Amino acid sequence: MVTAGFDVDGIIQGLSNFRGTVFPGQQQMYQRLLRDGQQPKALMIACADSRVSPEHITQSGPGDLFVCRNAGNIVPPFSQQNGGVSSAIEYAVVALGVLDIVICGHSDCGAMKGLMNPEALGNMPNVAAWLRHSHAAKQIVCEAYPEGMDPKERHRAVALENVVVQLNHLRTHPSVATALARGKLRLHGWFFEIESGQVLAYCGERGRFIPIDEATGVPVAQASASRIATPEFAGPHAGPHASPQTGPEPIPHAIAAE
Ligand code: ZN
Repeated sequence: MVTAGFDVDGIIQGLSNFRGTVFPGQQQMYQRLLRDGQQPKALMIACADSRVSPEHITQSGPGDLFVCRNAGNIVPPFSQQNGGVSSAIEYAVVALGVLDIVICGHSDCGAMKGLMNPEALGNMPNVAAWLRHSHAAKQIVCEAYPEGMDPKERHRAVALENVVVQLNHLRTHPSVATALARGKLRLHGWFFEIESGQVLAYCGERGRFIPIDEATGVPVAQASASRIATPEFAGPHAGPHASPQTGPEPIPHAIAAE
């Protein structure tokens, strides 16, 4: 596929318009963000697809979201090997103290098409290797879903299952596991439908995706609840960090569907 490439005039005009027209009206906000530092409401791990803009679909502004994007909205399971996604997660949880992590997949995902058609990845060895982190999603759909599904439905099912698989990988990261044990973190699995603009959210209790709307609120994949495996140490006085009464605040408006 050949794209038109950078429209240099358009980029210059855009930068000029931002600097001359938009920025003056937002200068105070940027100064405040510079003075106080960033305090993003959530970490959003989304696909690098150009049609999936976390800030746009949540109508968020500068400073609202800490964003990490890659092909297939993938979170490699924790390992001793360093990686960009792992570092972003660790920084967001430990240094910034985010209370919500969202993994956001989407419809018509090219990475998921590659996952289902590995023969198309012959000249993309890095993509093929990266997509190994999504093999569980493919296998779930191949072996647990009905046979004879329409290819489009199959592709959608893989993309949805991939969000659930990556949520599981997220829990293997020590920073995430610790924040969950302390009741200081909520996990969300989202799916953006490009064709309708609708965002679905994975409901951990029901084990399925449901639309986010004003009536139902924002279903969570994993709610905030402190827990430790030794009952004798559980409770409000269980160590310097355990404070079950002070979990995350309600879902930030910035990541709730408008
Ligand atoms: Zn994608």
